Amino acid sequence: MARYSGPVCKLCRREGSKLFLKGTRCLSDKCAIERRNYPPGQHGRRRGRRPSDYQVQLREKQKVKRMYGVFERQFRKYFREAAQRRGITGEALLIALERRLDNVVYRMGLALSRAHARQIVRHGHIQVDGCRVDIPSYQTSQGDVIAVAPNSKKNIEVRMAAENAAAGQTPAWLQVDLDALRGTVAQLPTREDIDVEIQEQLIVELYSK
Ligand code: SF4
Repeated sequence: MARYSGPVCKLCRREGSKLFLKGTRCLSDKCAIERRNYPPGQHGRRRGRRPSDYQVQLREKQKVKRMYGVFERQFRKYFREAAQRRGITGEALLIALERRLDNVVYRMGLALSRAHARQIVRHGHIQVDGCRVDIPSYQTSQGDVIAVAPNSKKNIEVRMAAENAAAGQTPAWLQVDLDALRGTVAQLPTREDIDVEIQEQLIVELYSK
């Protein structure tokens, strides 16, 4: 299945919430959700019927999938693995997504968006504990040191992201030194660390049918 390459703001408008797919634009008043918070398309503004339970569950799943930029097959795999873990399945699912290397790079402020993070990981600009890792889905662990490779420190977009990353926005489970373009996974994330509004129970209900 090919990756979606159309206008990404449409995805946010479809889900009715900010998915932060466009870097700094998402924080500006140019954000499409701020200007046109209704679904895209000819009938977007029309008030439709009350959505069914299935539609609500499906939209929640699509929202999370699009936010983290994973395909349906990968997403189902995350769900299956989460269901086998002890504890609450929905939380385990979100934590597994949050631990992805591309997400950690984005959360540390070393990339403008998750898509940008995925690209710089793929292109070999990121090291984990001193070794190049070019797999965006790599599951980070406690103590992992994530750094921009020495030869990539001049990468203009990485520098731009680091400059834009406001101090204090880094989640508590990560320690970051933006001047050195590196950070550490101080502890594994918990559900409370994922500050986006997500009703993961709806996803569990969808896949449990
Ligand atoms: Fe979504 Fe960012 Fe576009 Fe806003 S600017 S609609 S948050 S991708």
